[in-house]
Amino acid sequence: MYDTDGRKYLDGVSSLWVTTFGHRTPEIDAAIIAQLGKLDHSTFLGATHTPGIELAEKLLALTPGLDKVFYAGDGSSAVEAGLKIAYQYSVQSGQPRPLFVHLSEAYHGDTLGAVSVGGMKLFHATYRPLLLKTATVGSPGLRAPGQTPVERAAEVIKELEAVMAAQGDQVCAIVLEPMVQAAAGMLTYDASFLRAARELATKYGALLMVDEVATGIARTGPMWAHQHAGITPDLLTCGKGITAGYLPLSAVLATDEVYSAFLGAPEKTFFHGHTYTANPLACAAANANLTLAVERDLPGQVAVLGARLADLLKPVGDRDSVVEIRQLGAMIGVEVANVRHRTGFEVCRAARKRGVWLRPLGDTVILMPPLTLGEAEQNLMVEALAEAIDEVV
Ligand code: PLP
Repeated sequence: MYDTDGRKYLDGVSSLWVTTFGHRTPEIDAAIIAQLGKLDHSTFLGATHTPGIELAEKLLALTPGLDKVFYAGDGSSAVEAGLKIAYQYSVQSGQPRPLFVHLSEAYHGDTLGAVSVGGMKLFHATYRPLLLKTATVGSPGLRAPGQTPVERAAEVIKELEAVMAAQGDQVCAIVLEPMVQAAAGMLTYDASFLRAARELATKYGALLMVDEVATGIARTGPMWAHQHAGITPDLLTCGKGITAGYLPLSAVLATDEVYSAFLGAPEKTFFHGHTYTANPLACAAANANLTLAVERDLPGQVAVLGARLADLLKPVGDRDSVVEIRQLGAMIGVEVANVRHRTGFEVCRAARKRGVWLRPLGDTVILMPPLTLGEAEQNLMVEALAEAIDEVV
């Protein structure tokens, strides 16, 4: 990226966690231009179009166990749709269940439904009186000093068991970010928690909704983060990386079982649709992006990238000025010691002077690079971060 004075930056956070292959991917540019020559916009209400159909097929091919796709416009609106689907599913399965279980420190977007299942005080506390009914369990990623990820997961599983034992028949869905709570500062957690959430949802007849808006399309390694745990969710939301950031588009994926509950009578319809749902240009971008993701074996590339970045970051983590490094694939949070007002922000500012664009979440500096970042660029990113930490902290 270049600023208005012509200075050059490496984008170490994939814009807002969206670019897949770096900015301006020729194949995606070409796909959008080709689509422009065919169809600009066509309503998805009671109609469909070729790029939308192709994209649904591509998404489902990447997602064993899920069978249907519902489009939305961005991450938050996918979450809204998912929440409404989960509640309506309970109504149409014979027992309305108005309660959602979610995690503390969660972030699912800024619209009211998404805020309801969010758990970050700064962003969400003000709106509590306006929100859906929820029960909150602790963050499996927030470990006490000396506690292992497995021990923390076991603790929160107990909490979740207790909530479900007390109110399980009221719960329509357990909603969570799989494996890593991104906006909370890359709080990674053990896969045993995800497996337990799957089991408890099934046991109590609730749906498991995984929000892969940040983690999807190989950001953590596998195409979807829930695949680390070997589970299948009932609902999956995705957005951000599906178009590589070119155009707004998101989706909710669902099982046939969920879908079937919406068939049979007109009033069972899911009355929900946005003007820009499945915009054909956005679908064309996503189709090109997903084709490349498969052709270029993005999961394999992220495994290599993640391992190399972990090695490069080891000496950074050894500094007294660094509290912890949390990483899953290409999602990395470097928590620095809080030595002054807005330490994380100052570290990012110092990295910017060195030609690397980063963003903090509190005192955690986020590294979320394009998934095909070359070795020289990886070196540059980590060197700039190390120097910036040494300058500021
Ligand atoms: N869900 C998760 C897990 C996210 O990380 C985000 C955004 O960061 C959202 C939902 C909201 O997506 P959007 O900003 O596209 O509405």
